[in-house]
Amino acid sequence: MDIPKFLTDLMEARSPSGYEFESQKVIDRYMGDKADVYKKDVMGSRHAYLNEGKTPLVMLSGHMDELGFLIKYIDDKGFAYFDTIGGHDLSMISGRRVTILTKNGPIPGVTGKRAIHLLDSDERNKIPKQYDLWIDLGCKTDKEAQSLVEIGDPVVYDTPNTSIINDKVITGRAFDDKVGTYVVMEVIHRLAAEKSSLECGIVSVASVQEEVGTRGAITSSFSIQPTVGIAIDVGHATDFPSCDQKRFGKVDLGAGPIIARGCNINPVVFEKLIGCAKAAEIPYQIESEPYPTGTDARSIQISRGGVATGLVSIPLRYMHTPTETAHLDDIENTIKLLCAFTKSLTPGDIFEF
Ligand SMILES: [Zn+2]
Repeated sequence: MDIPKFLTDLMEARSPSGYEFESQKVIDRYMGDKADVYKKDVMGSRHAYLNEGKTPLVMLSGHMDELGFLIKYIDDKGFAYFDTIGGHDLSMISGRRVTILTKNGPIPGVTGKRAIHLLDSDERNKIPKQYDLWIDLGCKTDKEAQSLVEIGDPVVYDTPNTSIINDKVITGRAFDDKVGTYVVMEVIHRLAAEKSSLECGIVSVASVQEEVGTRGAITSSFSIQPTVGIAIDVGHATDFPSCDQKRFGKVDLGAGPIIARGCNINPVVFEKLIGCAKAAEIPYQIESEPYPTGTDARSIQISRGGVATGLVSIPLRYMHTPTETAHLDDIENTIKLLCAFTKSLTPGDIFEF
């Protein structure tokens, strides 16, 4: 099985929160003429509708932003310091190739670190402070660095293209949540031909700024006013060494989409998702979420007077690292589940309980 080209193109797009320009271009290219109505908003999110105006209206949301860094200060020798965008593991930042996205195009750099030989024994086991990390631009002076890079320029890891490790297991920089964006938009592609038989409206949202507070989902769910909202994100697979399943629950890579259950989830939507998975013989896993989740679902649910909300996640190993790892079957089964769920909706559906 090949990696779908739309997903590969999204993965290659560099789109740290607030600077989602490259992802937006990819989505515009694939979706501009596929939806009945295709909208951009002032946050930068994208809304692709089929059957706009029909109710119930289901909103599928996958966020297009990713983690990154933001240039904050350049010292007199031309080394650049930065803030983090999103939840980084500070122990993983040093020793990477990075790309700074400047107004004149991408500039390469590396995150430096003092070699092990030059560290005191107590320094060797320490996690660095963010302000002790720097980007080496290969410059000699602050003037030279300032001619290349400006304060507020965003940065992402420069990692090789998304690739297959073995069989259907794939790795890349930002499945979180380009894979969700791909899935919600692919649902529009697949349902477009049969939209006249759908008894609902559907809008797929590529939301922005999820990693810094689900901000695109807040504005999109307000403007769209959906009946049902489903966030599609990545969820922690817990099937690798060091992950205690007593503590984190049991989620396996390749064992199907994760359907969340808990206070963030409308119980009618949950049961409907499970029913659709069973009827279509789609494998699935259930996760318990006692609090509002760290996904777009947290904001969709409490938009206006409340939205009947679900969360479907694609199992992912090594979240928020440059080597996030997913399974092609889980991606395909998530698309199938959302298509089945959308087809099951009718004007008579009641989500109050
Ligand atoms: Zn994330």
